[in-house]
Amino acid sequence: MRTQVGIVGAGPAGLTLAQLLHREGIESVVLEDRSREYVEQRIRAGVLEQGTVDLLVAAGVGDRLRREGLVHHGIELQFDGERHRIPLSDLTGGRTIVIYGQTEVVKDLVRARLEADLPLLFEAADVTVSDLDSERPRISFTHASRAHELECDVIAGCDGFHGVCRPSIPAGVLREYSREYPFGWLGILAAVAPSNDELIYAHHERGFALLSLRSPELCRLYIQCRPDEDLAAWSDERIWAELQLRLGLKGWTLAEGPVLEKGVTGMRSFVVEPMRYGRLFLAGDAAHIVPPTGAKGLNLALHDVRVLAEALVSWYETGSSALLDAYSEASLQRVWRAEHFSWWMTQMLHRSDGGDDFGLKLQLSQLRYVTTSTAAATSLAENYVGLEQV
Ligand SMILES: Cc1cc2nc3c(=O)[nH]c(=O)nc-3n(C[C@H](O)[C@H](O)[C@H](O)COP(=O)(O)OP(=O)(O)OC[C@H]3O[C@@H](n4cnc5c(N)ncnc54)[C@H](O)[C@@H]3O)c2cc1C
Repeated sequence: MRTQVGIVGAGPAGLTLAQLLHREGIESVVLEDRSREYVEQRIRAGVLEQGTVDLLVAAGVGDRLRREGLVHHGIELQFDGERHRIPLSDLTGGRTIVIYGQTEVVKDLVRARLEADLPLLFEAADVTVSDLDSERPRISFTHASRAHELECDVIAGCDGFHGVCRPSIPAGVLREYSREYPFGWLGILAAVAPSNDELIYAHHERGFALLSLRSPELCRLYIQCRPDEDLAAWSDERIWAELQLRLGLKGWTLAEGPVLEKGVTGMRSFVVEPMRYGRLFLAGDAAHIVPPTGAKGLNLALHDVRVLAEALVSWYETGSSALLDAYSEASLQRVWRAEHFSWWMTQMLHRSDGGDDFGLKLQLSQLRYVTTSTAAATSLAENYVGLEQV
């Protein structure tokens, strides 16, 4: 088998890259080790920056997103028993965020790929990449019990944090930067209409909580927990009680409903540099992870593949590798901005173990500043909706 671009991973990054390349007449094969059902049901991100929405619409997969996505113009920060609105659109010249689940983004991309009858192989096992520093890098894999080898011009490693592409790069090439956080998020998806029209980020002495949503009928809620929290110790009743404590306000109650899904996610910041080795280009979570507090992971993944697709188009059209050579550096600029913003939001909103009172006072001061100074609120807002230049 032979293709122009071999794409490992059918998450948002791999599928969007395949779609962007298809629109430019560039062939690709997407290999995914999980089933279609698994990939389409994996509940994760839900906040899309305006640039992400524009990219999906321009790529021809934005019809349902436009119809069903919920456009938001602000978020709320809650601390010291009060809620304060950050008017994102007013502070950023009208830019917005759109609430549309990652599950839906993935479904739209999978459908577009399969309807166009283009190669997307689910349950591809034993994927390995080789000859990365040659002009003919290869991917070998097993599909439907048969071994295959795919020869490519380039390989896009879009296989997430636990994928095979990044570890296939020889030792000493990549530099890793990382930070582990001493907490995680216990998240639920609940079948109940959201009790608030906008997201609420709550700072509380018992720990952070977030009210988010996926649709007019589905709520996504999180509470800060230990990174190794035992989910079995959290009945639905206990989770709702904790959410009521952390999100509750005088005169406002959080509506409860059936819990459809729950899980614990650890939090980490991670970046590798460069995002390339020879003819292998890393994109999305394969190259970087952010804690979810800034809602940046999916958006960054799509930004990477936009830059990569443009570079590949230029390479195929002109023969010049200038944009491909600049890919890593260009992507990393935005990656590090998002890394900083996600870290900043995380340390402002979460209680650290040990309940350091000095740290608590600094957090409250920062929250008061962000909610009373237009300059500080604008900084939060422009990062949250996604900076146009970076
Ligand atoms: C709880 C949670 C909440 C989040 N909330 C937000 C949010 O609000 N906003 C936001 O922007 N981001 C959020 N994120 C982050 C976001 O989900 C990720 O950044 C995003 O999924 C990255 O997309 P990706 O395509 O790079 O990687 P992935 O989605 O991880 O996709 C990688 C794909 O590669 C496949 N794969 C792995 N190994 C192999 C292999 N060996 N062979 C073949 N295929 C392989 C995987 O099965 C997967 O389908 C959240 C994440 C979590 C966990």
